Amino acid sequence: MTIINSDHWQRAIILVDMNAFFAAIEQLDFNELRHKPIAVTNGEQGSCIITCSYEARAYGIKTGMRFFEARKLCPELIRRPSRHKRYAEVSRTIMQALRDITPDIEIYSVDEAFLDITHCQKLYGSPIKIAELVKEKVWQVAKLPCSIGLSGDKSTAKFAANLHKPNGLTIIPPWEAKERLRRVPVSELWGVGKGITEFLARYRVVYCGDMEKLPISVLAQRFGNLGRRLWNICQGADPDPVRPTLAEPKSMGHGKVLPPNVTDEKMLLIYFRHMCEKLAARLRRNRLAAQEFFIGAKSYQWGWLGGKYKTAYPCNDGAELYALCRKMLREHWQGAAVFQVQVTAYDPRPEGQQLELFLPDEESHNAHQVIDTINQRYGEFTIAPASLLNRSKMPNVISPAWKPEGPKQSV
Ligand SMILES: [Mg+2]
Repeated sequence: MTIINSDHWQRAIILVDMNAFFAAIEQLDFNELRHKPIAVTNGEQGSCIITCSYEARAYGIKTGMRFFEARKLCPELIRRPSRHKRYAEVSRTIMQALRDITPDIEIYSVDEAFLDITHCQKLYGSPIKIAELVKEKVWQVAKLPCSIGLSGDKSTAKFAANLHKPNGLTIIPPWEAKERLRRVPVSELWGVGKGITEFLARYRVVYCGDMEKLPISVLAQRFGNLGRRLWNICQGADPDPVRPTLAEPKSMGHGKVLPPNVTDEKMLLIYFRHMCEKLAARLRRNRLAAQEFFIGAKSYQWGWLGGKYKTAYPCNDGAELYALCRKMLREHWQGAAVFQVQVTAYDPRPEGQQLELFLPDEESHNAHQVIDTINQRYGEFTIAPASLLNRSKMPNVISPAWKPEGPKQSV
């Protein structure tokens, strides 16, 4: 028998899986829905169930079921229209909290993430302690339950997380993984579909434990690398690495289509100022800053006028961006009729991450915080540069495409 130091694992992977995520958020935000069977559908009249609460699942209701069929199982089932923006916001909060624990995070979906915690055992302690910390963190920032699986590889961690729902924490130490999977049907593993199951059955492989009798080459020949991976997965040794999801978007920008034939510099500047303040506020809201920007004005005759501009240090200040716009107009614009403006930050990074030689002064930073707080509470540009006060004279100046939620909008 090998002696294993169970406090330090050679490889430790956590899967965090939020439980009935969208439904749980509905119950969190609306007190009257707690402990009730609810189903989230696409819109007020949505016919298909996107997800449902555990109270609904007790009636046999499942994701993908038709709402009218679900109502037959549970007449008091409550339908809630999906609020994707809200779910994305909660997801971002959770993922950011997890990222604070380790940057080795693969955001697998809106409600699932793998963490490779191998390298933070020195910092936080044993993998079990870290798993508990993760659970606590999720609760702290979101007040939502999650199921956590901890093992030495991704697939076993995923398998473990599924064993106890909701709100579970399941540990399968890597040296026990093979044994724990032995009596588990291969079909129950992550990503194993009907086709593979049938193929394996021909070789009398039904349970994970049967797999080692089958030469890996049989699977490799039929399914390539995925086959090889599956052979290892069945033995509790999924080789697939946690593939870190990049934290920040590659660019973030605001643009605006203008009324036709703008040739007035003053008017153009107001639009630019508006875009700069929007972009700067959005960068600050996401605690980002950038050093390189695209500043452009699109003309009928010449296409885009403008180009890349740099600031001396990473910046999220509207006035500074505006200075770049003035510079751009001086350099590239001689009065051509323009119909679009654009201000985009390239490669925004977390604020204060870079070694900054010239730090923006503390005072302007505090002023931004106050302005941002007020504007978030009372509406965009409640407090804004004086030049923007003219913007009410312009048609539709606040772009309908503007999304205030954050850098990544997709759910
Ligand atoms: Mg889930």
